[in-house]
Amino acid sequence: MMKEIRMDLGDRSYPILLDKGIIGELKNYVTKYEKIILVSNTKVGALYSEKVLDILENTGKNISYFEISDGEEHKSIESAFGIYDFMVENDFDRSSLIISLGGGVITDLGGYVAATYMRGIDFIQIPTSLLSQVDASIGGKVAVNHPKAKNLIGAFYQPKLVLIDVDFLKTLPEKEFKAGMGEIIKHSFLKDDDYYDYLVENAQAVKDLQPEEIIEVIKRSCVIKKNIVEEDEKEKGIRAIVNLGHTYAHALETATEYKGYSHGEAVAKGIIYEILLSQKLGYVEKEFLDRGKIIFDKYEIDCEPVKIEIERLIALMKKDKKNTGGKIKFVLPTGKGTVSVEDVSEDIIREINQEIDNRVIK
Ligand code: NAD
Ligand code: MG
Repeated sequence: MMKEIRMDLGDRSYPILLDKGIIGELKNYVTKYEKIILVSNTKVGALYSEKVLDILENTGKNISYFEISDGEEHKSIESAFGIYDFMVENDFDRSSLIISLGGGVITDLGGYVAATYMRGIDFIQIPTSLLSQVDASIGGKVAVNHPKAKNLIGAFYQPKLVLIDVDFLKTLPEKEFKAGMGEIIKHSFLKDDDYYDYLVENAQAVKDLQPEEIIEVIKRSCVIKKNIVEEDEKEKGIRAIVNLGHTYAHALETATEYKGYSHGEAVAKGIIYEILLSQKLGYVEKEFLDRGKIIFDKYEIDCEPVKIEIERLIALMKKDKKNTGGKIKFVLPTGKGTVSVEDVSEDIIREINQEIDNRVIK
C-alpha cells in the first residue's frame, strides 16, 4: 500500500509518496499547471524519460523536456543557465512547474532553478537514486556547486511533492546503492527506534531490493530526516546532526580529489572516525565501535578510516562549513541513537591520527 509521509512546514507542507510502481500517480499532482518542464540527465533520461513523458503528455498539458550531461560537475550555474534560457525562450512563467527526475545532482539543480526562476516557481522531486530518495530530495536544500566549493550557491526551497518509486532502484549501479546505504546507516545512528537492528537483520533483503524491506528502510529514513527538518528547516541548530560522519568524509573526499572513495564509503569511514573520537573522549566503549563496524560490514561498505597526513587533515577539517572561530566541529555518537555536536581540539585529532596509523600497520 502506498505510504504517504507528510512534511509539515505550515504553508510549505507537502506529501512524500513512497511505493513500488507509483510513478503514474504523478498525473494527479500536475492538474493546476499549464506548462511543465521535466529535467533529467542523459543516463536517467535514457532509462526513464519516455515513461515519465508519456504520463505527462497524457494529461494534455504543454510538456517540455530538458536533459543535461551526467555527473556532479554538471550541477553548475552553467547547467542552470541552460534551463533558464530554455524556459525564457518558451514563455515559462510564474505558474509553470519544474519536475526533476534523477539522482541528487538533478534534484538539487532542478530545485535550484525552481527557487530562482522568476523568484521561485513550483517544483516536484522524482528522486531515482537511493541517496536522493532518502536524503537529497528530502528537506528543501537546493543548490549548484561553485568551482571552489560544493553547494555554495543555493537556497532553502521546498517542493510541492516528492514522489519515490522504488522501481527506479533496479537499474542503480551497486556503487550508488552503497552511497545511499551510507546515509541510511547514518540515520540509524541518529535515532534509537530499533532501526539499526532492522538494518542488520534484514540486510540481505534490503540489498536484494525486496519491496517490503527496501520500502520500510526508505520510509524510516525519510521520517527521521523529515522530523529533523520540521524542527529546524534552515539548519540553525539541530539539523546539523545530519552531518554525522561528514567532517572527516569531506576532508577525505577533498584530499583524494573525490576519486578515492564514494561518498557512502567516506561517510562510513567518517562515522567510525567519530566513534573513535567519542571513545577517546569517554562517551562510548569499545563495544560501540564494534557495533558500527558490524552494520557497515553487513552492507559490504569499507568503513576503516584511512590516514591523511595530519597537517593536511587539520587544514581541511578547519575549512568545513560547519565550523566557527577556527575550531573543528564534529557530530559525535554518544550512545545508541544519540549524538552531540562538539568542538574537538587539535590534540585529540593528532592522537586519533596516530592510532589510525598503528591500526593500518597491524
Ligand atoms: P547523482 O545524481 O550523480 O547520481 C549518481 C549516479 O547514479 C549518476 O550517474 C546518476 O545518473 C545515476 N542514477 C541515478 N538514478 C539512477 C537509476 N535509477 N538508475 C541508474 N542510474 C541512476 O548522485 P546522488 O548520489 O544521487 O546525489 C549526490 C548529490 O546530491 C550531490 O550533489 C550532493 O551534494 C547532493 N545532496 C544534496 C542533499 C540535500 O539536502 N539537498 C543531501 C545529500 C546530497
Ligand atoms: Mg552526505
